[in-house]
This record gives sequence, C-alpha cells and structure tokens, in this order.
Amino acid sequence: MAFETRAIHGGQEPDPETGAVMPPVYASPAFAQDSPGEHHGYEYSRTGNPTRTALEDNLTSVEGGSHGRTFASGMAAINTVLNLLEAGDHVVVGRDVYGDTHRLFTQVYEDYDLRFSFVDATDHDAVADAMGAHTELVWIETPTNPLMRVLDIESIAAIAHEYDALAAVDNTFATPALQRPLELGADVVAHSLTKYLGGHSDVVGSALVTDDPALDERLGFYQNSVGATLDPFACFLVLRGTKTLPVRMERHSENARKLASWLADHPAVESVHYSGLQSHSQHDLAGRQMDDFGGMVSVEFDASLPAVEQFVSNTETFTLSEGLSGVESLLEHPATMTHAAVPAEERRETGITDGLVRLSVGLEAVADLRDDLEQAIDRSLRR
Ligand SMILES: *Cc1c(COP(=O)(O)O)cnc(C)c1O
Repeated sequence: MAFETRAIHGGQEPDPETGAVMPPVYASPAFAQDSPGEHHGYEYSRTGNPTRTALEDNLTSVEGGSHGRTFASGMAAINTVLNLLEAGDHVVVGRDVYGDTHRLFTQVYEDYDLRFSFVDATDHDAVADAMGAHTELVWIETPTNPLMRVLDIESIAAIAHEYDALAAVDNTFATPALQRPLELGADVVAHSLTKYLGGHSDVVGSALVTDDPALDERLGFYQNSVGATLDPFACFLVLRGTKTLPVRMERHSENARKLASWLADHPAVESVHYSGLQSHSQHDLAGRQMDDFGGMVSVEFDASLPAVEQFVSNTETFTLSEGLSGVESLLEHPATMTHAAVPAEERRETGITDGLVRLSVGLEAVADLRDDLEQAIDRSLRR
C-alpha cells in the first residue's frame, strides 16, 4: 500500500462497537476483566491503551517497522533508548544534535557513567575511529539541527553493526514521508511527535519504531516501568496529524525550496544551509536518501549579534519561537536559544555561529514569507 494510504489507514479500523471512523479517546486508566487475568486486550492504560495502540500501529506502518511505542515527549523516547545501556557503556553521537539531546547525554547520563563521543558524522572515518569495545549505540539525526547537514544512514548503520552497536536515527526533521531509516539499516527510529507528525503545534509527544521484536520488547519494558507514556488525547491529536503528513511535507518542502533559493541570492545573506539547493555539498546524498528535502532551512548572516537578534525580533509572519514544523512559519536564533546549552567552544567547532538563523517554513503563501523576511532584513541587517 502506498505511503499516503498507510498514513490514513495504517492501524485504523472503524471502532468495532460504534463504527466511529476515528479511534475514540479512551480516557479510562483501567479496564474491566472477566476473571483474574482474563481481559479484552487491555488492563491498565500506562501499559496499553486502545487510542495509543491506534497511533502506535499507524506510526509503525508509516515508518515501515514491526512495532512502535509512544512517549510523553521527544526527550522521553530518547531517554528510553538510553535506558537500554549500562554504566560503562559508550555512545557515539553525530555532532550537531538537538540541543536538549546533547544536554540529556552530557548533563544527565554522564552522571550515570555512560560515556559519549560527539563526532562529525559526515566523516565516516571519524565515526569508525570513535567506536570501541564498549560502544553500544550510535545516535544520529539527519538532516542535522540546526546546520542541515545530511548524514549517510546506510553507511553509519553499517559501521555501528560492525561493532555490534545499535544504530538509532532521530527522524524528526525528515519524517517518514521523506526518509525511512529502518529501510536503510537503522535499528530504531525516534520521533518528536511534537513536530511534523503532530504538525499543528498543539501536542507534545514522541515515538520509537523498530523492526526488531526483541528490541521492541525491551523498549516496552522501559516504557511501562518508567511510565512516561503518551496520554490518549495526545494520541488522538497526533493521529489527526499523521493523516495529512504527506500533503503537508510536500508543501513544506516546496515553500522551503523557494525561500532557500531566494535567500541564497540575497545580498545580505552569507550562506544558506538547505540540502535541496544544488549548491549544498550533500545534495546528491540527500536526493538518494530522501524523497524531498523538508521544511527546515538555516541562513547565515554576516552581521553582528545585536543586528541578528534584531532581525529575528522584527519578523511578523514568522514567529520567533524555539518550536518548529507547525503549519505556521517560525524562526529562531540557535546560539542564544535552542543551542544555548551547548558550550560556546563546541558550538563554534560545530559551526553554530552568532549569525545563524533557523527557519521552520510553514504552509503560508511563499510570497508573504519572502516579503516578511525582506522587511525584517531591511530594518535590521541592511548596511
Ligand atoms: C524537538 C526535538 C526533540 C525533542 O522533542 P520534545 O517533544 O520537544 O521533547 C528531539 N529531537 C529533535 C530533532 C527535535 O526537533
């Protein structure tokens, strides 16, 4: 079945009791049993809930996995993957990851004696050199945040497997509409459902999808034991979002491509990071690995910090916000906002400069978005 059809019908059956075409919100924490241990598939909602099952099955279907699990926020899913590890284990991480992922790894899990090596994962020798006898996990995000570098999932998963480590991909930016890491050899895919899958800036949640039943069982143990599960109403909201995901991603990508090419020719702009541009050094890899290039664009201005801060405050259609991927366009300043927790020196090494601005291109008319950026550039950055 085609992706668009699975997005709408994957894991979705009309409600057997009432025929409702959308799965109802089962708010009940507990379920009646006929006799001890004899129940209708559900006992307690932290362990399993029918609305959550509908969403988990839908996500499993669109990601091309065998099992899916949902959690209370993106960080809860990432945390669950780390629950698989033990003190002394080592993790290799692609360098420009989501700022709070970096914080979870270095400020929480280093205290539990996990060790992390952050590497430029566009350099496969650097990934291989960082691997060791205790490396149990390779964690990457692609396209990366905020620099939109493209990592070769197939090659990096192969390196991980040479060392018997798990390959995990945070697929939040691309979504399964554009990129399916399990098909490329990843063992587990993580999503912040808060972003494109929810898609309407009205819910916080996350998912892990795998095609390995034994791995899923371990993830399920931690999902239930730790208890950061996604509540049924949030599951319902995300399901509403997944049904329109293919259409939204097509338009997000189209708008982003148009804005990126316009910005690339703009005199106030130093450079544009968007893998859909032919000038992007990984355009070919992105074209092979992804079905389209997505809605996230980063722009580098050659301007002082105060001027750039003024620019991001002067847009009107673009809202200044750390969020991303909703129907509305947002922008943010990584160095002082999403990536402020990353030490300044590491930010500089990674390439997150004071002049970098990240755009989450929404579904508005692209002419209005262009006009808005132009007026903000005029008011803040023209010299
Ligand atoms: C937002 C985000 C997360 C964290 O998700 P939350 O739902 O905010 O906890 C993780 N990874 C990426 C790439 C994200 O964009």
